[in-house]
Amino acid sequence: MYQLTYWSIPASVALFVCFITYLQLRNSATVAGGEALRALLASTTLWSVTQLASTLVTTTELQNLITPIAYLGIASVPVTWFMFCLTYSLGNDKPPPILLLGISIIPVVTVVLAFTNQYHGAFWTGVELTQLQGYVGIEYTYGLWWTINAAYSYALILVGTSIIAFTLAQTHSHGGPLFAVIAAPGVVIALNVVYLSPQNPLPGLDLTTAGFAIATLILNNWVLQHGMLTTNKVVRQQVVEQLREGVMVVSYQGLVLDANPMALKILNLTDDVTFNQPLDTLTDHVSLLELVTSHRRNTEVGISGRAYEVTVSKFDEDNEDSDSILVFRDVTERRRAEHALQKAKHSLQKAAETDSLTGLNNRRVFMRRLSEEAERVRRHGSQLSVLLFDLDHFKKVNDSYGHDVGDRVLQKVAEVSQQVKRITDVVARTGGEEFALLLPETDKEGALHLADRLRSAIASATVQDNLGVPVQVTSSVGVATVNKIDNIEDFLRDADVALYRAKDGGRNMVCFADAGLSI
Ligand code: GH3
Ligand code: MG
Ligand code: MG
Repeated sequence: MYQLTYWSIPASVALFVCFITYLQLRNSATVAGGEALRALLASTTLWSVTQLASTLVTTTELQNLITPIAYLGIASVPVTWFMFCLTYSLGNDKPPPILLLGISIIPVVTVVLAFTNQYHGAFWTGVELTQLQGYVGIEYTYGLWWTINAAYSYALILVGTSIIAFTLAQTHSHGGPLFAVIAAPGVVIALNVVYLSPQNPLPGLDLTTAGFAIATLILNNWVLQHGMLTTNKVVRQQVVEQLREGVMVVSYQGLVLDANPMALKILNLTDDVTFNQPLDTLTDHVSLLELVTSHRRNTEVGISGRAYEVTVSKFDEDNEDSDSILVFRDVTERRRAEHALQKAKHSLQKAAETDSLTGLNNRRVFMRRLSEEAERVRRHGSQLSVLLFDLDHFKKVNDSYGHDVGDRVLQKVAEVSQQVKRITDVVARTGGEEFALLLPETDKEGALHLADRLRSAIASATVQDNLGVPVQVTSSVGVATVNKIDNIEDFLRDADVALYRAKDGGRNMVCFADAGLSI
């Protein structure tokens, strides 16, 4: 009744491989072709189980019990393979129900006839046990329906394989998956043909299931391991379609091969744009065109008031003639934020360097500019002059007219000194009613001349108090000039001494510091 022989090994291996792969796939993500592939592996697993069972039994009664069940698997393998090929190519997870129904008619009839064969013999007409090296096999004499089912099964596998091969030939640059979808059914069909041919060296032993083991391993290696089912073209396409970034594919000759909706939107193109034409027929953004022809990796383009960072990468970095992918990232908000930050920084810096009452430079800026100019004196031996001026009896102005009038006077003095100075001169409010004017490349004569103009301009300037009474002030000016400088503090002290001499001398006058000049 039962036998335990080496002939059970191929079916056992097939069962193991198909079942393990089925379990692996069961938990995989929902992707195009995934469900049909799971159904295919369930069918090959069932076929392998019945095949294994058939190698274990030795009576026709038991064989006749197993065979109809085997046809459940045998009939569904071509259908599920076809559905895998079709749904993968169409990018659907579930097979179209009408089509599934249509192509299942013949296999369903096959199964029904297999289970009822004893009443009509349409499937097989005779069963015969064979003996080979101690192994008891079974040989059928097939009827008409068997031929119909076999022809139909081969046709379905052939059409399905052609569809998926065509799809893969278009979308995959490497040939692994393409090889796999042709080789896998090829191996199964080859072994099936050997089994069915009169020249079968092992009559009674169906090695088709051993073909499943090989086919499943092939698919596992080239299809599943290559991520064909997890990142297949459809999923990839959906991702690219929905990306917030614009994506464009440009050939090495500069032809635009494809672009996602966002890229078209960015370039103000409509959806019905035709591809395979040069980029410059689609856009006239020079920096974009340059990017494609040059070896640069990124650029920034402004399109319709927005800023886009465009990066280029080649499909195959080692191949000069490889197509390129351009990714457009909208960086408008980032640039705006950077600009606002820059502006805020700038105004903060301005505030830190400006005297708020008069708008003049403050002491800090004056000292910085002074040391820069002192450096030039050291390097070039040019002459540098400085004026320090202080308002005379300013306390009295405050006392007589009030602090706000005093403030207005200070503003007026700032205005006057701005007018009198030359463009390269630097004026600053260095204290309460004390100011300084730095005169680069200016000798003693020029400095004294300017100092006197300043003094008289201040003396003749007028502001009105709150009752309209004119208020005037005078100033005392200390001047120093150097053509070599060791220490800027000494230089300033010289000018300060001169300023105090002017105060002592009666105010509203200019005094020069004699120290510091080597001429
Ligand atoms: P001198 O001729 O000797 O310089 O006499 P002065 O009164 O100008 O000198 P002093 O240093 O005694 O007084 C300076 C005055 O300047 C005192 C202060 O009230 C006034 N002052 C300083 N800063 C300000 C300011 O920002 N606004 C106003 N309104 N007054 C100021
Ligand atoms: Mg003072
Ligand atoms: Mg004063």
